[in-house]
Amino acid sequence: MLATVYTGRPAQQGGQEHDKVRLVASFYPLYEFASRVGGDKASVSSLVPAGIEPHDWEPTAQDRLRVSDADILVINGAGFESWAGNMEAKVVVDTSQGIDHGANPHIWLDPVIAKHQVEKIREAVIAADPANEDYYKKNADSFLTELDQLNSFIKLQLADCEKSDFIAFHDAFAYFAARYGLTQHAIHDVSPEGDILPQKLQQVISLANQLGINVIYSEDLVDSRLADTIAGEIPGGRVLVLSPVEGIKQQEQDAGIGYIDKMRENVANLRVGLECR
Ligand SMILES: [Zn+2]
Repeated sequence: MLATVYTGRPAQQGGQEHDKVRLVASFYPLYEFASRVGGDKASVSSLVPAGIEPHDWEPTAQDRLRVSDADILVINGAGFESWAGNMEAKVVVDTSQGIDHGANPHIWLDPVIAKHQVEKIREAVIAADPANEDYYKKNADSFLTELDQLNSFIKLQLADCEKSDFIAFHDAFAYFAARYGLTQHAIHDVSPEGDILPQKLQQVISLANQLGINVIYSEDLVDSRLADTIAGEIPGGRVLVLSPVEGIKQQEQDAGIGYIDKMRENVANLRVGLECR
């Protein structure tokens, strides 16, 4: 005999989700920006899972389905999502549109450009759900204010430093460096993955010695051994993290750590390497 079990749950769940604007963001910073704008009137998910490096990520058939089901696909643009052109999305928001950028896609690491990205998302969400325009504007404004404050904070923190050169793990901080009058050097090119030739390692070590740099930056989602090796070849060498905020691990997201926190940590670690007062 089978007993009937009453779970107390309705037969179908998620009915309310259909009232929300459905956004799929490509990877972490866009996910956070979209979540901040959409608030509780949007359901936002990220294609690249939490804590996964997005550079070499490729969508699965299931990801394509998620995108075609969504109202809006939010991408960084500037060439970061090489797969985006093959997606069937109702609306694609390319947040790099209208920004004067080169071949380097890491625009989100400049808080001033990030503001533009947030504004592009705001426009798209309002177009999809005009009835809640005021709500989305208010959400966006509050995040835009935080980005303004971050920009002022960084300027202040980096105002009086001994050095202006730093060695990043990969070429992610070009826009950041340009914004704050710094010079970025990098171990890896535009992606943090792949092999490094011994000659390149030697070059980085020579450069560090030449410039009197003793902090080598690693990242939060990569193996730090390469940075450790370089630091080991430099007098007083040490490794600190400079996060490109390309992904935030789930446990950190659960603890409420986001873009602004990561950027503030970056600034604290840059202050060590640049010998700021
Ligand atoms: Zn990158």
